Amino acid sequence: MAKVTKVLDKEFVPFISKEEIAKRNQEIGQQITKDYEGKDVLMVSVLNGSFMFTSDLAKEIDLEIDISFVKYSSYQGTESTGKVKQLIGFNEADVRGKHVIIVEDIVDTGRTMKALLKDLEEMKPASVKVCALLYKPEALKIPITIDYVGFEIDPRFVVGYGLDYDHFGRNIPEILVLKDKA
Ligand code: 5GP
Repeated sequence: MAKVTKVLDKEFVPFISKEEIAKRNQEIGQQITKDYEGKDVLMVSVLNGSFMFTSDLAKEIDLEIDISFVKYSSYQGTESTGKVKQLIGFNEADVRGKHVIIVEDIVDTGRTMKALLKDLEEMKPASVKVCALLYKPEALKIPITIDYVGFEIDPRFVVGYGLDYDHFGRNIPEILVLKDKA
């Protein structure tokens, strides 16, 4: 029987282990190091969910890089509200001419990413690529390209490793999935 972890009123079971995440971070970090050698890189981390992924991934990138943070909001509880709001924005002077890598915890409908890409484009970066730890292809509603994907997953609700359920569960060091739908 899989270990059950309770976050608020919901039960979650193990899904992606610490070891699997660490291995994937190392692989993506090495790929980014190769792809961006000699380039002026700005990693844009999407808060709050990407804080842990950004921190671990950045340590696997063997380049001098700038790291910045933005915050958008679309989720309430376990459901997307469909509306995306920018809460903390970009500093335009930091973006212009940079090779931007957006670091997201998870791409679900793609609405957050679309809003972000639109905001970024206006700031004239040299290039923009998207790196997502988790990607739910079946939930995608807006066509976007994800250049670096950690894990493709089914459209189920996950927590841990930065991802929350109503503000809790972010500090769980692995990724868990909602038990009812496991
Ligand atoms: P999208 O705009 O692509 O629908 O959703 C992106 C954001 O929704 C993510 O950055 C994340 O904060 C949240 N999200 C989407 N799916 C999940 C999930 O399964 N678990 C959690 N905790 N958050 C999710």
